[in-house]
Amino acid sequence: SSFNDFGLSSAMRANLEQLGFTKPTEIQAKALAPGLAGKDVIAMAKTGSGKTAAFGISLIERLNPRLFAVQSLILCPTRELADQVAKALRELARARENVKILTLCGGVSIGPQIGSLSHGAHIVVGTPGRVQDHLRKGTLSLARLKTVVLDEADRMLDMGFQDAMEDILSQTPGSRQTMMFSATWPAPIRELSKQYQKDPVDVRA
Ligand code: AMP
Repeated sequence: SSFNDFGLSSAMRANLEQLGFTKPTEIQAKALAPGLAGKDVIAMAKTGSGKTAAFGISLIERLNPRLFAVQSLILCPTRELADQVAKALRELARARENVKILTLCGGVSIGPQIGSLSHGAHIVVGTPGRVQDHLRKGTLSLARLKTVVLDEADRMLDMGFQDAMEDILSQTPGSRQTMMFSATWPAPIRELSKQYQKDPVDVRA
């Protein structure tokens, strides 16, 4: 398959070429079409599979830069992963103008994050505990959210983030798209999918 098969914008295609992404990885080839169509996706994918672009390309293509509200939320188990995801999304977002991406992770003071949020963000990448803190304080609203991504969902469960994840999901619109990425497929992951996804497209690479 080729990046020309998905109806991507010419700016995104040019950007992918510039990034050296000559053809989709297996997970991208399978997840891009449902992702771009706004469908829920559950994908079994490890780091190194190209999973970040598998959801990142569709988030950025579907984004409305003129709407100053958080339209996508990516939950990650660790700050390291969140930073890595935000960096990859910023590269993919070069295809669009004025896309603001914020990371909200614990272990750093919350004040500057509140300041950044007050200026508006289109995409938030964060860890569940800190995202929950912002929701509690009212400094983050997910009322206009289009897509939520649970990245390394199995690791988030292992780290005890189940309640936080469910609390966050309960504060998002029912109409949202939910994408789950997980390296493994244990019962709690299937349960989470059953509870929070609608007719998910099952993708294995
Ligand atoms: P990830 O699994 O998302 O951590 O991605 C692993 C690495 O593969 C990253 O360095 C990406 O920049 C790179 N990558 C992702 N998609 C492609 C692609 N289609 N072609 C070449 N490299 C890619």
